[in-house]
Amino acid sequence: MTDFHYSVDSDGVATIAWDIPNKSMNVLSMEGLAELETHIDTALADEAVKGVIITSAKPDFAGGMDLNVIAKMKEMAGDQPEQGLFDGIMSMHRTLRKIERAGMDAKTLKGGKPVVAALPGTALGIGLEIPLACHRIIAADNPKAKIGLPEILVGIFPGAGGTTRLARKLGAMGAAPFLLEGKLSEPRKAKAAGLIDEIVPADELLARAKDWVLGAKDADLVKPWDAKGYKMPGGAPYHPAGFMTFVGASAMINGKTQGVYPAAKALLSAVYEGAMVPFDTALKIEARWFVNVLMNPSSSAMIRSLFINKEALEKGANRPAVDDARVAKLGVLGAGMMGAGIAYVAANAGIEVVLIDASQEAAEKGKAHAEGILDKGMKRGKVSENKKAEVLSRIAATSEYDALAGCDLVIEAVFEDPKVKAEVTARAEAVLGPDAIFATNTSTLPISDLARASKRPEQFIGIHFFSPVDKMLLVEIIKGRETRDMAVAKALDFVRQIRKTPIVVNDARFFYANRCIIPYVNEGMRMVREGVAPALVENAAKLMGMPLGPLQLVDETSLDLGAKIAKATRAAMGDRYADGDVDEIVFWMVEQGRLGRKAKAGFYSYDDAGKRLGLWDGIAAQFPPASEQPDLITVQHRLMFAQALEAVRALEEGVLTDIREGDVGAILGWGFAPWSGGPFSWLDMLGAHFALSVCDDLEARFGPRFRAPALLRDMAKGEGGFYASRASIAA
Ligand code: NAD
Repeated sequence: MTDFHYSVDSDGVATIAWDIPNKSMNVLSMEGLAELETHIDTALADEAVKGVIITSAKPDFAGGMDLNVIAKMKEMAGDQPEQGLFDGIMSMHRTLRKIERAGMDAKTLKGGKPVVAALPGTALGIGLEIPLACHRIIAADNPKAKIGLPEILVGIFPGAGGTTRLARKLGAMGAAPFLLEGKLSEPRKAKAAGLIDEIVPADELLARAKDWVLGAKDADLVKPWDAKGYKMPGGAPYHPAGFMTFVGASAMINGKTQGVYPAAKALLSAVYEGAMVPFDTALKIEARWFVNVLMNPSSSAMIRSLFINKEALEKGANRPAVDDARVAKLGVLGAGMMGAGIAYVAANAGIEVVLIDASQEAAEKGKAHAEGILDKGMKRGKVSENKKAEVLSRIAATSEYDALAGCDLVIEAVFEDPKVKAEVTARAEAVLGPDAIFATNTSTLPISDLARASKRPEQFIGIHFFSPVDKMLLVEIIKGRETRDMAVAKALDFVRQIRKTPIVVNDARFFYANRCIIPYVNEGMRMVREGVAPALVENAAKLMGMPLGPLQLVDETSLDLGAKIAKATRAAMGDRYADGDVDEIVFWMVEQGRLGRKAKAGFYSYDDAGKRLGLWDGIAAQFPPASEQPDLITVQHRLMFAQALEAVRALEEGVLTDIREGDVGAILGWGFAPWSGGPFSWLDMLGAHFALSVCDDLEARFGPRFRAPALLRDMAKGEGGFYASRASIAA
């Protein structure tokens, strides 16, 4: 297979055009890298070649490294994976360094051949690291293009010299948003930030690149860091200004990551240590830190969940094999917070939407919500006036059910009341065609019960969004007892159209995500009731990498909702209800009017504008802190096992059918410690044997809710874990 095409024109300018067959986006494989090197060797050795353009024959330059390759590289490196990875990375450095030096004399820095990167569109990850090794980066003025280094978002960092080069190009401070936050920019912003050198109209890209090659002088080819007297912009670590930057960065990273993300710390170490040595040594240091990160179980788990498995689910890993079921016209019933959000994301994805509420006024209000989101986008320069008009023109707001004629999918998001839901189901079905699918966005009512109101329960399904709909990436698809494949396919194709990530689960109380969140917040509140200091509870959660402590999470979702769910759960479970102690604190808070953020009073205090201040000290009057506080690990284990064991139970009961969905859903749905790769990855990291011993201990000290599920108990007898068993099932 040929990933790169090599040609030389009559002026002696060689072009290496990246164009992987049968793929819409270029990604770098090990074979591709070897090919690139061969072409570079050919160009440098050929006297007739004056310089080189590296570009792409596709609309975009490259989407990055094929992360499957990293996973494979590690697997294949035998019993010395560190050495194997290090050697592989160093050979990548050698190739890119060859481009950068381009045959110049090491002493005089003369005689090299100019190499320019010409980027027609998006250039991400290694797709920017290769250009950073070139002598000039010219990009087409393509506002749709994204340029940046997003590696940190999947738990690694740019490890093909991108970290060292960018830090030297922009200085530690300038490079920080790109390296540490994975910030992506369109070409104009990338140019303003100094990430790339030049932008030209798209149709002039190659001509301009060629002109540059033909006009380049020796001095144009010498990177600042290869020139004599190079100083890092903003100062190296022992420069007074640099010192401030590095001290600040270190504190900031620890503050943001709580020390649980190995990649951020390793990246900063690579920049810090690399800044004090010559460039080639810095690359070696970068490679060592990169191996360190790749060998960390957290980065493998993050890559697996946030890249490989997330993508597999988005591409329909669990989609039934039925015909294309993309949605052409969507009906949304209920234009409240959720309905309006669903209408917006669908219209934004190009789908015609009929948005219905009980009155025309209420429906219009829902549409105005969509307009509000678009206005915010315009303020940030992300949405044009045209785009706004186009999206809004796709939403027809009305109170007339007849308008649903021709919809192939309807999602109801009316009040959480089975009677209201039954009524709107019947009214919609009276208008819909025979093949249309009806979905409910309920968060607490069993799908199979709601399906009773439908004339065709096999076409009835749950499509559960999270709030706020335009921001949250996960959508839970719930099969009722009678739901058939066609409805599942329709729901999955719809979620794909709106570019969110789906998981498919079976019907059970609270489905999957809410089922696991509730024990987390309950455990937090239970501890406060027991006299554990609220600050200990919140900080223990954050130090485990949870984005929100349980008390903050309850404040966000509101305590009256908690009380409502508690009452309904108690009514449904009767004697088996085990959260009476939690209710004591929930109902007390509700009585005090401390309903959470919306009331500007909850477990936290808020100012008049609703800004969170600090933990509310009034709680101590009712639930005073005990004189002896538990150790941090105990609090963390209680909070984490409360969630993870519920995930295992969901698997055991067949609510979840795929641990990949369990892990991806946990991270995207409620922010389960992303560094861990999700609850199943986390348990695998602990090892079933150790996890079981913790459960036994927690059960003895705190009660049967921590009893290990049989699945975990059985697993602890052998060597395997959740992913190992999954692999053996797949084989
Ligand atoms: P909401 O109260 O903001 O909106 C409900 C809307 O339904 C209102 O605009 C109301 O006028 C309309 N409505 C009521 N009866 C109607 C009828 N007969 N015909 C047409 N419209 C009618 O509620 P919400 O927060 O948007 O929740 C809606 C649904 O989504 C509920 O089932 C809820 O459980 C579920 N849900 C909510 C969240 C959340 O965080 N709020 C998350 C996931 C799912």
